[in-house]
Amino acid sequence: MRNALPRHKPLVQPPATRRGNFGEVIQDYDFQDAMDEADRCISCENARCEFACPLHNHIPRWIGELKRGNLAEAYRIIRETSPMPEICSRLCPQERLCEGACAMGIRYEAIAIGQLERFVSRHGSKLVQLKAESPKVLSNHLKKKAAAVGSGPASFAFAHTLAKQGHSVTVFERWPRLGGVLRWIPHFKLPTELLESHIEALKRLGVAFKTGVEIHSVHELLKNGHDAVFLGVGASRPSVPKIPGVTLGGILNSTDFLVRVYYDPVALPNGWQSITDLHGTRVAVLGGGDSAMDCLRTAVRLGASEVTCFYRRDEANMPGSKKEVKAAKEEGVRMQFLAAPTVFLSRDGQTVSQVECIRMELGPPDASGRRSPVSIEGSNFTTEVDLVVLSFGYEVEPMLADRERLMPPPKGIVKINPATGATPIPGVFAGGDCVTGPNLVCTAARAGIVAAQGALGYFAGEPWEILCNTKSSK
Ligand SMILES: Cc1cc2nc3c(=O)[nH]c(=O)nc-3n(C[C@H](O)[C@H](O)[C@H](O)COP(=O)(O)OP(=O)(O)OC[C@H]3O[C@@H](n4cnc5c(N)ncnc54)[C@H](O)[C@@H]3O)c2cc1C
Repeated sequence: MRNALPRHKPLVQPPATRRGNFGEVIQDYDFQDAMDEADRCISCENARCEFACPLHNHIPRWIGELKRGNLAEAYRIIRETSPMPEICSRLCPQERLCEGACAMGIRYEAIAIGQLERFVSRHGSKLVQLKAESPKVLSNHLKKKAAAVGSGPASFAFAHTLAKQGHSVTVFERWPRLGGVLRWIPHFKLPTELLESHIEALKRLGVAFKTGVEIHSVHELLKNGHDAVFLGVGASRPSVPKIPGVTLGGILNSTDFLVRVYYDPVALPNGWQSITDLHGTRVAVLGGGDSAMDCLRTAVRLGASEVTCFYRRDEANMPGSKKEVKAAKEEGVRMQFLAAPTVFLSRDGQTVSQVECIRMELGPPDASGRRSPVSIEGSNFTTEVDLVVLSFGYEVEPMLADRERLMPPPKGIVKINPATGATPIPGVFAGGDCVTGPNLVCTAARAGIVAAQGALGYFAGEPWEILCNTKSSK
């Protein structure tokens, strides 16, 4: 039985090599591996993988086309539901989504859906590019004007869906470069060229972009002739813990660190300086999620002499992907589990030189079901550091003027009808991390599509009370 064969593993840069470069860690399948892996798929009816995919990609259908060698058709089917397969195939935690639900995985190994999607996106897109996407032509009275605030995957998907239908969309981004978080996700996970070519494709479709423009009020956009506004402002403001010494020099939050490394150095926001080299630097990253792993693995590649992760629970209770933790350890990151920071110390009173931690043990489970860490009295220890990166999660940053109605405190999360993306303000839709809190690229993209479909209903005259349907709001 072909499907009982082990899954085809892609080539991966060995740890000793990848420590010294920012190239992609996981390599593409070659043609034969892709065909052999596709052959393992049993093309389930009512496939569980499809339900588990936030974008509901028609996985068995496109894998079926791939099996027959129809790469262009396989790509076309993926694009029916996914606006950015080249990005999602690299960034989705497939083991928790489609692959986690794969029926083959019950007895054998799950199909490598992400790796196959990446293969189809690379080769199929070249064939389909010949017939590049063109927008529907609408007469002037039907053509509407929409604005998207923020330029992350949620706004990209919103803009793509509306522009294809012939409407005019402008994306406003406060920072100098487009892409939201995609702009500072490590290049060993997402090469910048893929982001750039996605933006180029949106421009070819007629989407307009305005960078360096911070929007403070959706009402202004509505007054300025926009028929609909989409809020895709994300949740990328880092949470800062109240630890004594946290304002010392040499302590950065994860966004400030990653942006300084990956953002275009000539366009760094906030007057920040690039970080290009950490040779001789002892780096401590505090936190145990995926963005902590991104910071740790980035510090390794910049040549840091010691890279240590401090996390207050044990390895089994880490919040992020096991794959990322494994990769970080292979690359030489030192893990200090069950250790929570208590104070940052400085020899010169200005720059951090030590982090003091206390040992923890796991107590009974908390509301989330995870065992909560409890400190062990008198177990404090210090570690010498030159740079500390804080990675304690992210929050929504509410827009000033619309804070009370759209993004109420304390969390600033935008309230919508999840079926349409409609907020309580007529003409205003929202989606992505600003609605869910920190989430995933694929969930943000799906939210952008849902909101664009809501906007199409609005343009067609659907009443706001129905679109908004506050009863089903989150
Ligand atoms: C370090 C890191 C690594 C990650 N890795 C992964 C991964 O591997 N896989 C995965 O699926 N997800 C990952 N994520 C999560 C993923 O990036 C987010 O879920 C996704 O980007 C959210 O998309 P969004 O469109 O809602 O917002 P964002 O991508 O956050 O974009 C919001 C944009 O809005 C702009 N903005 C905010 N306010 C305004 C305003 N008032 N006016 C104008 N512009 C404004 C911001 O500058 C930003 O560019 C990661 C997140 C981080 C932080």
